[in-house]
Amino acid sequence: MGLRRGAGSWPMGYTYLEMKPSVIRRYLKSSQSGGTVLIVSIVALCLAAAVAGGVAIWASAGQEKSPPPDVKVDRYEPAERLPRAMTPEPSAPATSAPAPQPASFDTSLAMSHVAYLSQSIGDREQGTAGESAAALYVQGQLSSYGYAVAAQSVPIPVTGRTTQNITAVLPGTQRPGRTVVLGAHIDTKGGPGANDNATGVGVLLELARVLKINMRQVPTVEFAFFGGEEIASGGSPDQHHWGSQHFLDSLPPEERQQLAGMISVDMVGAGDRFYVNSMGLSRQTLRDMILTLGSARGMTCRQDPGWSDHEPFERAGIPSAWLEYTGGNPYHEPTDVFASVDQSHVATAGSLLQEFFESYLTGERTDQL
Ligand SMILES: [Zn+2]
Repeated sequence: MGLRRGAGSWPMGYTYLEMKPSVIRRYLKSSQSGGTVLIVSIVALCLAAAVAGGVAIWASAGQEKSPPPDVKVDRYEPAERLPRAMTPEPSAPATSAPAPQPASFDTSLAMSHVAYLSQSIGDREQGTAGESAAALYVQGQLSSYGYAVAAQSVPIPVTGRTTQNITAVLPGTQRPGRTVVLGAHIDTKGGPGANDNATGVGVLLELARVLKINMRQVPTVEFAFFGGEEIASGGSPDQHHWGSQHFLDSLPPEERQQLAGMISVDMVGAGDRFYVNSMGLSRQTLRDMILTLGSARGMTCRQDPGWSDHEPFERAGIPSAWLEYTGGNPYHEPTDVFASVDQSHVATAGSLLQEFFESYLTGERTDQL
């Protein structure tokens, strides 16, 4: 029941109509052409003149928002991978336009993603319909923020199933040729995975929204929502990280050269201790920068080796870090539910990363990675 990209389409049965109403509305609204809006407006004006003026205009404005009846997601077929060079360069704002309101990490939006993934979808074991539904949700959210989204099919040899990576690129404003991958895994093991790792996905989605509005990031940020991070069912302890390994392996040489660092956000909603982990296999520059920033914010940051999606990057010599909370929290258990997530932890992780990308990671520090 995995997502079979080889067939060139999404599995039938998943439609935007199964997603959050707000997503559906945004998708349907964006799919309407400006011409349709214009025609509806003209009809409304004629009606108003002929009948009763303002009342008719109000009525037609309401009709304009009615969705067409049969929009299906299988019309939406993202590319396997969009070359970073294809993503549009950030454009300078027009001098006469008012400065846009800066956006801040909104914990309630991040938590709404956690709720949808852990409660509306639930179990998202790699290669199953649950994981595919979550990947589809992530795509819909990123599209609604204005990203071009890529979906990459990933085989899982141990189970014969297929998982997928969902990626989107935000070009850097000063160092567009240097890329920091910001990753979170979509799949779960043994439960609904509210903390592990709906929290990481929720934080990443909210950062994708906020960073794109503000456009303050110096290097390019590639958001990577990995499939198959957990140990495959029936696999040995080192048979995991399928999505992140495949992402790295399939990078064109010139894009791999551009990798400045990788951050995995994995379990940031429960537990009483905050960690910035690395395995010590590559330079510690990125980990040390996050530890320094965390300390400056008054956080007590610990560090420990450990496995998450940063592992393949570290083994490839790329400065990497894994952000997590741990200590007394359930994971890989049916008890890893939404109620166990402390939203203040999600807020802390999200705002730390926003500050890291929008002010701490200057051009000079990017060059040091
Ligand atoms: Zn995890």
